[in-house]
Amino acid sequence: MATFLFFGRLNDFLARDQRGQIITVHFRERQSVKHLAESLGVPHPEIGQVQVNGQDDLDIHLGRLAAYLRMLGFDCLYETTYDDSKLAEITQQEGRILLSRDRRLLMRKSVADGYCLRSLDSLEQLSEVVQRFDLAHHVIPFHRCLRCNHLLEPIRKEVVLDRLEPLTKKYFDEFHICPGCGQIYWKGSHYEQMQKIVREITS
Ligand SMILES: [Zn+2]
Repeated sequence: MATFLFFGRLNDFLARDQRGQIITVHFRERQSVKHLAESLGVPHPEIGQVQVNGQDDLDIHLGRLAAYLRMLGFDCLYETTYDDSKLAEITQQEGRILLSRDRRLLMRKSVADGYCLRSLDSLEQLSEVVQRFDLAHHVIPFHRCLRCNHLLEPIRKEVVLDRLEPLTKKYFDEFHICPGCGQIYWKGSHYEQMQKIVREITS
């Protein structure tokens, strides 16, 4: 079961009695947020941002894999607004490896280097990519922004003090900031979970 609440103009697409309301959707098998939102009538390109359980969710397509790759330090472009030809073009221009679950996209002539992800699970996908391209020895974790791919820079605590939650202020002294999106990073509870993933992937 999932509950949805749509904001602003997205309500235009809903049945009249569902607008501005919390909508409960029941489903049996694993479903994507995209599919469920579209089952209510909201086309996915209309949706600018999705929050799942109060957190930004990047996982509509392969966003979570992108965040994991960045966590390991790999330069990873992730853009949901590009169409197939644009993706193929950028792959070629920037000498990137195209990761996709779309076989037809990977069959395009301009895609020189790519990989078709087998799993639907983002951690398994990460493991697939690391093995396929033999990346385990090239991992430099926690120096790239998970959101926007920029390299992080250290920042003094005093400078970001007013942006920190009370407990973060109390227990942490070392901070990094993303010059791209302004996100602040510190070695909090997420860090331990991520360290575990890094250990498993590189072992
Ligand atoms: Zn960033």
